[in-house]
Formats: sequence, C-alpha cells, structure tokens
Amino acid sequence: EQEVRILGGVLELDTKGIGQIMTKIEDVFTLSADAVLDQAVLRAISESGYSRIPVHLSGNPNAFVGSLLVKQLLCLERSQLENMPVSSLPLSILPEARPETSCWQALNYFQTGRAHLLLISHTPGRPGGAIGIVTLEDVIEEILSQE
Ligand code: ATP
Ligand code: ATP
Repeated sequence: EQEVRILGGVLELDTKGIGQIMTKIEDVFTLSADAVLDQAVLRAISESGYSRIPVHLSGNPNAFVGSLLVKQLLCLERSQLENMPVSSLPLSILPEARPETSCWQALNYFQTGRAHLLLISHTPGRPGGAIGIVTLEDVIEEILSQE
C-alpha cells in the first residue's frame, strides 16, 4: 500500500511543476555578494544549517550570481575570511528554471550531477525574476509524502 502511494507520487512528478514544491524566495537563506565573511556572518551561515547559499547582487536581492558551497570555507584561513567579500570566492553555478518545469525534469537534471540546487525564476537568464529554489530533497519529499 505504501508502494502504491509512492508510485502515485512518481507518476505525478510529470504533471507537477517545481513552482508547486519550491522553497519560496523569502524563506531562502541568501547572502549579498558584498557581504564580508566576518564572525557574525559565519555564525549565521552555520546556524542556518544549509550547505548551499544563493548569492545575490548587492542591493538587488532577486538577482543571483551563483551559489556558495559552505564546505568551500573549510580551506580558507579564518584571518583571510575576515576581510573577504563573498564575491571573491569561487561560487558554484546556480542554474535557473521556470516554475512550470516539471518535477520529473528537475529530478533528471539533479541526477546528471551538474547541480544540487535550482533557482526558480519567471525570467531565466535575466536577473530579477527569482521566486524560489528547489533541491533534490524537495523532489524526494514530494514522492514520499503523497496522500
Ligand atoms: P545537504 O542535505 O546536502 O546538506 P541542505 O540540508 O542544505 O543540503 P537540502 O537537503 O538540499 O539542503 O534541502 C533541504 C530543504 O532546505 C529543502 O526544502 C530546500 O529547498 C531547502 N533549502 C536548501 N538550501 C536552502 C537555503 N539556502 N535557504 C533556505 N532553504 C534552503
Ligand atoms: P553533497 O552532495 O551533499 O555535497 P557528498 O557529495 O559528500 O554530499 P553524496 O552526494 O551524499 O555525498 O554521495 C555521493 C556518493 O559519495 C555516494 O555514493 C556516497 O556513498 C559517497 N560518499 C559520501 N560521503 C563519502 C565519504 N566521506 N567517503 C567516501 N564516499 C562518500
């Protein structure tokens, strides 16, 4: 019976858009490109618990330039970090997709291993249209939490 439920979830992936399962942009922990990695910011990153942090242009919270992989911070000296703006670190690409993109397509994209996080935007390729993010975990949860 649980198997039937899960199969139902899998079948729905094709018709459900990622906009329906996304984490809304106002709930996403982000950093500004000009933010300096001082102790307070490092603590906020650590307390957020997230592994990937979308980075936006300073003064434009809807225009994203990439994603900070938190484990990258491990290789940097603390004294170096203190004066380092986020934009001086190598950021991971933050691929964009429209909210209508199916969960199935997103799952296949994650499976290629090219990214772990998708930015959902009404205007992929143009800044300003970001409305949320989706990760593999969101898609899996959708499969497992079917009624
Ligand atoms: P990992 O499990 O690889 O350490 P994570 O815990 O940072 O990654 P995921 O497991 O991919 O994140 O996602 C868990 C949930 O958190 C999902 O609902 C996802 O949309 C959300 N999420 C991921 N990153 C952020 C972020 N920076 N801000 C807010 N929510 C996020
Ligand atoms: P993330 O993608 O959240 O950064 P990750 O790349 O460390 O995590 P996973 O994506 O969960 O790891 O797993 C990828 C593969 O690497 C899996 O086959 C997993 O078993 C393996 N793996 C994970 N951690 C280790 C490790 N410490 N040593 C060797 N293999 C690992």
